[in-house]
Amino acid sequence: MNGFGSWLRQLGMKMNISLRRFMDGRYGNDKLNNAILGAAMVLVILALFIRNPLINLIAHGVAYALMFWAIFRSLSRNTYKRYQENRKYLQVFGRMQDRDHRYFDCPKCRQMVRVPRGKGKIAITCPRCKEKFVRKS
Ligand SMILES: [Zn+2]
Repeated sequence: MNGFGSWLRQLGMKMNISLRRFMDGRYGNDKLNNAILGAAMVLVILALFIRNPLINLIAHGVAYALMFWAIFRSLSRNTYKRYQENRKYLQVFGRMQDRDHRYFDCPKCRQMVRVPRGKGKIAITCPRCKEKFVRKS
């Protein structure tokens, strides 16, 4: 029994090492991947209630496409690009969650500017290029 236990532990260690070697230089998981997989899961669950075979097929197709996309992203070696995708996602998602602020892009340099919500029309000065623009907050 003890022999089997240590054999199992060794096997686990070997698999751990080969998995780590396989993932070496690859991007791995991030918040965007979790969201993609979550959306795929929701689609699969929704598909349980869809009786129309064509729509059901499409739902499954999209769900599988999302899963492949998430797997592709985690195995990708282009870590910089994947990181940027995740950053973009977090930016958009953060904006949606933030109820106290509004976000604007500077018309000149595209810098994102955050202002408090509900202050009426305000003059905003871009922190990067000092461009002034008026927006309703
Ligand atoms: Zn600017």
